[in-house]
Amino acid sequence: MRAPPGVSPADFSAALSRLENALGKDWVFLSDADMEMYRDPYSPFWHEDADRIPSAAIAPDSVEQVQAAVRIANHFKIPIWTVSTGKNLAYGGAAPALSGSVVLDLKRMNRIPEVNEKNHYALVEPGVSYFDLYRYIQDHNLKVWIDPAGPGWGSPVGNSLDRGGGSTPMNDHFAAVCGLEVVLANGDLLRTGMGALPAAKTWQQYKYGFGPYIDGIFSQANFGVVTKMGVWLMPEPEAYREGMVSVPKHDDLIPFVETLSYLRDSDVLRGTMLLESPVLNYRASQGGTVLDVPGGPSIADMEKIGAEKNLPYWRVVARFWGAQNVIDAQWEYTKEKFSAIPGASFQDNHAFRLPADPKEADNVQSYYLGVPSLSVFASLSSQSHMGFSPIIPMTGEAVFEALRVFGQAYTDLGVPPKDQVFSMPWTFFAHAFVLLAGLPISHDMEKNRQWRKVFERLVEVSAEHGWGEYRTHVAFMDKVASFYSYNNHALRRFHETIKDAIDPNGILSPGKSGVWPKHLRKM
Ligand SMILES: Cc1cc2nc3c(=O)[nH]c(=O)nc-3n(C[C@H](O)[C@H](O)[C@H](O)COP(=O)(O)OP(=O)(O)OC[C@H]3O[C@@H](n4cnc5c(N)ncnc54)[C@H](O)[C@@H]3O)c2cc1C
Repeated sequence: MRAPPGVSPADFSAALSRLENALGKDWVFLSDADMEMYRDPYSPFWHEDADRIPSAAIAPDSVEQVQAAVRIANHFKIPIWTVSTGKNLAYGGAAPALSGSVVLDLKRMNRIPEVNEKNHYALVEPGVSYFDLYRYIQDHNLKVWIDPAGPGWGSPVGNSLDRGGGSTPMNDHFAAVCGLEVVLANGDLLRTGMGALPAAKTWQQYKYGFGPYIDGIFSQANFGVVTKMGVWLMPEPEAYREGMVSVPKHDDLIPFVETLSYLRDSDVLRGTMLLESPVLNYRASQGGTVLDVPGGPSIADMEKIGAEKNLPYWRVVARFWGAQNVIDAQWEYTKEKFSAIPGASFQDNHAFRLPADPKEADNVQSYYLGVPSLSVFASLSSQSHMGFSPIIPMTGEAVFEALRVFGQAYTDLGVPPKDQVFSMPWTFFAHAFVLLAGLPISHDMEKNRQWRKVFERLVEVSAEHGWGEYRTHVAFMDKVASFYSYNNHALRRFHETIKDAIDPNGILSPGKSGVWPKHLRKM
């Protein structure tokens, strides 16, 4: 048994026996085999000393048990790292930022107190996965949709708290959160928003309650343990349709994204779209890169290839959910707006009434139809990865700049074009693009070391250009946070002031998002 940093073996042993009394012996895990389950399978430090390994894990079954566990941890000053379903692959899995922390695994708390199909919301515990919630809705024949993240084994609570995204119009997951129940570091129990009214009737319908709105401080944070969450759902739509919009020329990107942004922010285009470049993808498939690298082919060369191979320079698949006549009109309006770009072309893709006939549904990735799955893993290469995900403006100019800046950065780092991992922009969130590149991780320590260097440089280069990561792997949280430094780190100082006030012993998820308790800050 190895004690967490700063905790004596005697204290740790006393804490563990108290935890066993509070949760039951079966739910306190200590063996090496158990700790393997809480390591990050996508760790960039695989088998290096810096790999994050917990000292123990505990799995309470109720709010009262979470309160008891947190009080024990607080008494003995034991760092605990909270996970819901603990599947945060590409961002750290279930592993803590501080090696030796005790993982607080909330998987057993998997109850669904309510799904409401009249006001379209659910109230869930942290261990409820997307699969669980979907199954519950199907079993009860409720006319609401969930919006799963790519892998359906994750949870609305864990994913939303890490501000993840999905695919349908409810794709900004934290924006769909309405009402939290939170255990604080001293074991106190808090309900946010309307939940603070003891006889609340609208906890999951109205977010803001009265007074300062605090739900955001529990996301990507270490200020509390969320034990219940309200999640807004989408009424089951009447129909679904897709259409593809393409434009032929490099410079078309400027009006293309301007139109995309107008339609997205007018709620005509909804859900998650990927801005693709078939021409640049072709170049990548020939051993090149989608990025704009020094000495690479000229725009004229690429446009020529596009014309020869009949490939548009830019395209996007637009998706529509809702009443048939409304989505038909939205598609018509989308075509009308993009038609202002000379050479724009349109293709009707899949269109069907809902609930879909399985044969029709098979043509569409299930998560666009609100159905969780694990098929996303099949669409990837076999490599594990760490998510590099900067937010950039939703403009064509910013996309050109990103292609140039990251192309130059990779070239400076000596990464050959075929290995220059990049993602074209996604519309997970309104008003801005996110780039979601998966930098490879393997069991080759030297390669991991090189890719960590690349990752760090890409983060630096992003910050130099005013772009920041929306979320990052635990290994890079300090690095990413260090660039959110406006006015001599006013934001960090504010986070630390809150941390010191509500978790003075610094037990909750030390290091999450670069926020460390006082006694660990110098480290
Ligand atoms: C192939 C692939 C595809 C992916 N696709 C997507 C995608 O489409 N969208 C997306 O967003 N992500 C995606 N991911 C990233 C990740 O796998 C998912 O976000 C996943 O849902 C996160 O795991 P989880 O839901 O189990 O959250 P958890 O691991 O349980 O939690 C995530 C983090 O939230 C915090 N947290 C969790 N529970 C609590 C709590 N109760 N109280 C306080 N803090 C808490 C912790 O800091 C924790 O580390 C993908 C990853 C891979 C490998």
